[in-house]
Amino acid sequence: MSLSRQQRYVKKMLKQKRCVSCGRPAVGARYCQEHLNADSARKREKLGLKKWRRGHRGRPTIASLNRDEQRAEDYGALGRK
Ligand SMILES: [Zn+2]
Repeated sequence: MSLSRQQRYVKKMLKQKRCVSCGRPAVGARYCQEHLNADSARKREKLGLKKWRRGHRGRPTIASLNRDEQRAEDYGALGRK
């Protein structure tokens, strides 16, 4: 099976860890930061999803996040002593 010109381009970009849209170094698997943001915005629009929100439904509660931060601070304080 032969690949089209565009398919070969995408394959080459993925192999070199470059953005599939613009060719700059990729941050994620296939996009640079700019196109990663554009991709997630597109997905949110298409699937009707909402922006990631701290303590929102299906996410750790804000209380538990604060507790984790507090613990991290405590450990940090212990480490410095
Ligand atoms: Zn890009």
